[in-house]
Amino acid sequence: MTSRQPIDEPSLDPELVEVDMHLVPPTQPVTGIVTSNEICLRGKSASFVRHVCVDVSGTPLQGAFHAGQSFGIVPPGLTEHGKPHKVRLYSIASPTVGEDGEGRILSTTCKRLIDEHSPQASSEEATRGLHLGVCSNYVCDLAPGDEIRITGPAGKRFVLPKAPERHDFLFLATGTGIAPFRGMVKDLLEGPDGPCKSDIHLVMGAPYTSDLLYDGFFRETADRHPNFHYHTVISREFLPDGRPQGYIHHYLDREIRLHGDLLTRDRALVYICGLAGMQTGVFQAMAKLGIGGPYLKVHEELAGVAPEDWELADIKRRVRPTHRCMLEVY
Ligand code: FAD
Ligand code: NAP
Repeated sequence: MTSRQPIDEPSLDPELVEVDMHLVPPTQPVTGIVTSNEICLRGKSASFVRHVCVDVSGTPLQGAFHAGQSFGIVPPGLTEHGKPHKVRLYSIASPTVGEDGEGRILSTTCKRLIDEHSPQASSEEATRGLHLGVCSNYVCDLAPGDEIRITGPAGKRFVLPKAPERHDFLFLATGTGIAPFRGMVKDLLEGPDGPCKSDIHLVMGAPYTSDLLYDGFFRETADRHPNFHYHTVISREFLPDGRPQGYIHHYLDREIRLHGDLLTRDRALVYICGLAGMQTGVFQAMAKLGIGGPYLKVHEELAGVAPEDWELADIKRRVRPTHRCMLEVY
């Protein structure tokens, strides 16, 4: 765990914590032991998402992972082509000190992938039917005591700054994209240096209230720490006036204190994690509200186009997050 630096001057671009990467390569996984595997949804839901803890003691991963990084899991067995399954990445949901406080147990937030294929043409007939994601269902089925082949850690940009007191934070999550924020919020508020006093806003997008993840933890944390604010945006439920709640960028649009106050501060950092494409609405909302400058580099070809008219392809090619905007979507 990095110790906090004193606050001396305002800082714009963050200096991120330095992290180890690929201590265990995907070609040579090591063995971890599952210590627990529990549902972490708020209620009865059509989705299945589990908080899975893995003991990495005695492996190069012990004490070597940071909140915000990912690790790899290699599912057993062979593909339909007879080749070993490839590694899948999972965000670390534990704080940097691990679930146990000693860097021995890391965790993730695993959603069962359940997919139904509807062939568009007769040539696709072979793929008709149900596909149960190979790795996610293997992980969700594991029991305490089971062995699991793991790799990592991976990722060096989606981590906290070395001096979190110098910044305020806006965390934007959809679905299991909440995983790294559980670890980061724990690092910020429950770390060995005492609670960070910065403003921390977490906006979580889920289809239904029952799909909220770690909801009890975030609510209790908000009750205990007045500088931590937990906002939920439930896309398939409604506001009291009957309008749909929408997506997280609609919330950003509605909540003047997030863009009018937090995001206009020189010290604010934005972290975005979850569904590929979620950045489109967030980037458009920031640009439309006139507060995108510190977070987005917009190519001059797009500078004259109204943000509402930006196409996904334009955003992918011509809008880049700056050092104050961390993006982890796929
Ligand atoms: P797969 O079996 O690989 O299926 C994936 C897709 O391919 C599906 O859409 C499936 O329909 C299709 N497909 C594959 N094979 C077939 C077939 N034979 N027939 C028909 N369709 C097929 N996920 C989480 O749940 N939690 C996390 O914290 C998390 N963090 C991540 C972090 C990063 C940086 C990245 C890149 C990914 C993360 N993921 C996370 C996603 C995770 O890596 C896996 O992609 C996900 O769990 C699905 O893997 P799977 O093996 O279950 O699915
Ligand atoms: P989900 O529950 O299906 O969706 C979460 C919420 O996002 C829903 O309310 C959904 O609304 C909404 N949403 C859909 N499209 C959106 C958009 N364009 N902008 C904003 N919000 C949108 O999510 P999930 O199944 O858990 O999926 C989470 C994704 O994050 C997965 O793809 C997962 O692999 C990825 N993930 C990435 C990382 C990482 O990169 N480190 C870590 C963890 C997870 P509706 O359903 O009502 O449309």
